[in-house]
This record gives sequence, C-alpha cells and structure tokens, in this order.
Amino acid sequence: MQSTMVQQFQIKLSPSNWVKAREARLETGRLWTRMVKVHRRCRKYHQPWPTQSKYEKHYKGKFDLHSQTVQAIIGKFFSNIETTKTNRKNGLKASYPWRERKYYNPVWKGQSVRLKGKNLTLPMGKGRSPLKIKLPHAVTGRVVQVELGFNTVYLTLSAEIPVQPRLFSRPGAGDLGVCNLIALTDGEETLIISGRGLRSIQQGRAKGIAALDTQIAKCKKGSRRRKKLVKAKWSLRRKADAQVRNLLHHAANQAVAFAVKKELTHVTTGDLGDINRGTKGKKKKQNNQDVGNWPHGQYTRYLNYKLQQVGIGHAKQSEAYTSQTCPACGHKHKPKGRMFRCPKCKFTALRDEVGAYNQPNKTIDNNIIPGRCIPTGKVKYLRPVRLKRVVPRAVDAADTGPTKTIVAVSRSLGLANGSTVYQKAFALATVAVASD
Ligand SMILES: [Zn+2]
Repeated sequence: MQSTMVQQFQIKLSPSNWVKAREARLETGRLWTRMVKVHRRCRKYHQPWPTQSKYEKHYKGKFDLHSQTVQAIIGKFFSNIETTKTNRKNGLKASYPWRERKYYNPVWKGQSVRLKGKNLTLPMGKGRSPLKIKLPHAVTGRVVQVELGFNTVYLTLSAEIPVQPRLFSRPGAGDLGVCNLIALTDGEETLIISGRGLRSIQQGRAKGIAALDTQIAKCKKGSRRRKKLVKAKWSLRRKADAQVRNLLHHAANQAVAFAVKKELTHVTTGDLGDINRGTKGKKKKQNNQDVGNWPHGQYTRYLNYKLQQVGIGHAKQSEAYTSQTCPACGHKHKPKGRMFRCPKCKFTALRDEVGAYNQPNKTIDNNIIPGRCIPTGKVKYLRPVRLKRVVPRAVDAADTGPTKTIVAVSRSLGLANGSTVYQKAFALATVAVASD
C-alpha cells in the first residue's frame, strides 16, 4: 500500500541561505497577497472570478520563485476557494481568502526537488542559485512535496508499506479524554496514558501568551519593544507546539506498543470531530479552554498512521454515551470525578476504563449491551514524557528583571519538588520586557 506522510524538520541555515529562505517566503507572501487582492476585488464588485489558468498565465515569470512553486501556490489558493465553496454549500461558516500575508510558505513539488541523503536542494528559478538545506538525518521514500516554513521544513514523503491481512479477530478500543489522553483496552487490560503533562504545557502556553499580550497592548505600534515582544510570543508558541508534538508522538508510540503487545488487529477510538461545535458559551470558560485546545485530532492522526505502519487497522466511532453508560446494567448518568459509580447497580470502576470498554461493546452493533464488556480493573498507567521540564507559569512577567530569568514552577503543575526551571522561550520574553 502507498502511504504518504509529512515529516517536519527543524533546520539551521547558514546566514546566506537564511537570507535566501526569508526572501523566498517574502516573495511567496507577495504572490499570495496579490492573488487575494485581485480575488477580493472581484468578489466586492461582483465581477467574474479569474480562473486558475488565468492566474497561472498572469503570474508566470513575475516572481523570483521557481515556476512550479508559483503554480503550486496558485493551486493552493484555488483549493482554498473550493473548500470554502463546499463548506458554504453545507451550511458551514467559511470565508474566502482575504488576509494579506507578509510571509507565506513556498512549496516545491516532487519533480523539481533533489534529495540526496541529508541534502535537500530547492530550486529558486532560472538565474537564481538554489537553496541548499541539510536535514538533521537522512530520509527514505519519494519526495512528493516540500514546504518551507520559518526554520522548518515540511517534507511530504511517499513510501510503500506492506499491507497485513486485516483480521477483525482481536479488537481494541480507546477512549480519548482530557485528564487522561487515552484509555486503551483489549478487553482484559487497560492502558491509560496521562494527559497531565500536556495540560501543563497548554496552560503555560496560554498564560505566557496572555502575559505577553498585555505587554504588547501597552506598546506603541511599530516600536522596537513591541517587535521584541511579538518575537518572544512567536518563540514561546513555537516552543510549546514542539513540546506538544513531541509528547503526542511519544503517547502514540506507547499506545501502538500496547496494541502490538496485545496482538490487536484493529483499534477503534472515539470520533471527537465536533466536540466543540455549537458549544459556544454553553460551557464554563475553564472547560472550553481545556477541550478546545486539546489536540485530539493531531493525536488521532499520529495514532492512525503509526498503527497502519505495523499493520493494525484504525477506525473512528462516535463516543456518544460511552463514558456515561453503566457497563453492567446500562443505566446512564454523568459521572463526577475520575470514578464511575452506577447509582442503580452500584457498579464501580475508573471512568476512563468504562469509556474504553464501552467502545468495543458499541462496535459490534452500535449498541451498548449491558454485561457484554465488563471492565476488569486491570489498569496500567503511563506518562508520555517525564514530567521534568514544564513551560513555567508566566507570573509577573513585567516585574521580572533580566537577572530573574529563572522562574519557579508551581507544585500544582505536577512536579515532585518545587524546583526551578530555566526556560529559553520564557527567558526571551523576560529579556525583551526588561530591555526597555
Ligand atoms: Zn449499573
């Protein structure tokens, strides 16, 4: 089976290459903005929209980019428009491209890119020297696409993976949650992966950004201080995102290892695609932040491809009532706290375990039949990454001088000892604040 996968690399560029990369991203931003402006105008004055081929003809050779890059960006613009069209047809709120962009990630299609071991060569068009990038490690597979972000390369690779016969003899099921990232069961034992580390990253991120936002709001537009603060904000964001990505990869690997060990043939997880839709203002603010920021989609994606690589099937299923229905008697109630206690038959088990066991029960005939899958209470807990370094709380960012870049981390974030942590991203923010 052919599988395509996007791999993301952090790259370090030489000064001359850095200038080249920046110039390419600026140039692509210019192209994007031009397209947006023309399209916006046509929409405003009810003129016919230019077609993709018209755009391609018009912009050919007008930007300092490889001709295929220009084509790819125009293609992206039009697929954006198509998506908006279908979304609107389906009654969803969607807007056509309207935002002007300073930077935009240029894209190269497979044929124009050269990849030899670690060395990636991206052509910049006739008469301009190509951009040479060294990847952190060699990659295998055929290059489908390369996207260049800020100090980041997104490589879309396609590779052949062996297809195992899909048996449905040993199903497993996972219940996604907030306190616990996932509870995965094979019907005998349950693996619970904690979501606490993730939450502390998310909270640190939100608090850090909020603190910087307050500072930014006080600055004059265009001032050096403001620029520094904005830079610090991006830095903090990137760092937190990288931490989340790392944690989710670890968590997915742990779940896959469990599935392999238990010789599962396929795994069902809850479908949380619309968990936040239509809930605006209905939930408490705290809860909204928790669930809305929760990268369930990202985690499910990782899980899906990692399971596929080892020949285990993966399917999504609605999670409705799986954590509210008593597996013993079928009585529905909303459990409070981490334990599930049935008010009718007094059945007691961990809430996430109940959610996990109700998933395979539901898979059989889309019904939770009481007594079919009873939690055994055999539970194993894992943390995706060690809780050693956490994004610290952004306490009083304004009052911390340059000498106070070491920030105490609260015990409530899950640290055994209230030790001090040095955080580069946060230090940047603090230095920026103090420099004025
Ligand atoms: Zn019950």
